Amino acid sequence: MDSACDRLARAAREALALVLPETCVGCGKPDSAVCPDCSARMTGGVLRQEIEPGFPVWAGTAYTGTARRVILALKNEHRTDAAAALALVLTTAVDAALLELPGAGPRAGALLTLAALPSTRSAYRRRGYRPVDVVVARTPLRLEHPLAWRRQPADQIGLTLDERKRNLDGSLLARRWARERSFLLVDDVVTTGATLLESRRALTAGGARVVGAVAIAATERRVRRVADEFGFVE
Ligand SMILES: [Zn+2]
Repeated sequence: MDSACDRLARAAREALALVLPETCVGCGKPDSAVCPDCSARMTGGVLRQEIEPGFPVWAGTAYTGTARRVILALKNEHRTDAAAALALVLTTAVDAALLELPGAGPRAGALLTLAALPSTRSAYRRRGYRPVDVVVARTPLRLEHPLAWRRQPADQIGLTLDERKRNLDGSLLARRWARERSFLLVDDVVTTGATLLESRRALTAGGARVVGAVAIAATERRVRRVADEFGFVE
């Protein structure tokens, strides 16, 4: 449950958003949440990585510069008005995934459901919304929440990959209705992939199938650009 203090802070932010002129979260220019230049800077460079062999992740852009600023504004500054621009970035990652996944084709999107990773209780209390949900809501994609926490993990910041894996191991549980369903996991930013691995473990243990993951952005470690793969460079 939100405290009165959380609710008050959120109401104050929402009231301010009504009176302050809108500025681009990427560059500060007036009149739009994300200006066309910043929006263009975030698209056109889908990244693909395998966090484990056979577990592909497609991200719409690299987690640097403009994309990083826009995502942080959505996550930490209550700029949910940036969601439409990020939805375009996420959609490019989903399109790249659909080209490669088995059974891909124009209708593949209709057969596949995006699965959200659960927010920790403290993150949800702090924000009052789930950033990925807000972004996916601006796309035609279907989003479901087939995972729940069995136990809340400690804060991941500053942990190594092995420490993150230990912190998360066994922390998630698949909901019973997820059995025999296929999911493409969706996250905002992929860094180590530890949360995606735990999500896949929990869903697989619950009898579901995970075909891969998509994200708005990924850190550029261990990734290659899909554009390079096909011989054209943005
Ligand atoms: Zn801008």
